[in-house]
Amino acid sequence: MMVYMKACKRCRGDLRESGDMYGPYLQCVQCGHVVDLPDDRLARAAAAASLVKRPAVARVERPAA
Ligand SMILES: [Zn+2]
Repeated sequence: MMVYMKACKRCRGDLRESGDMYGPYLQCVQCGHVVDLPDDRLARAAAAASLVKRPAVARVERPAA
């Protein structure tokens, strides 16, 4: 996990890479300020990872009706 030291524009705290189902973002460890990532490299990586994982689980848990 990447940490961007003193990158917070609000408090000059450290931004830590985080993310949820909507995509990646940076969050300040000190003040909680959230910054959208400037590019979508992580978004693509997360989407690719979920595409790999999701079908296998769906097939197991969803019996054919
Ligand atoms: Zn901050």
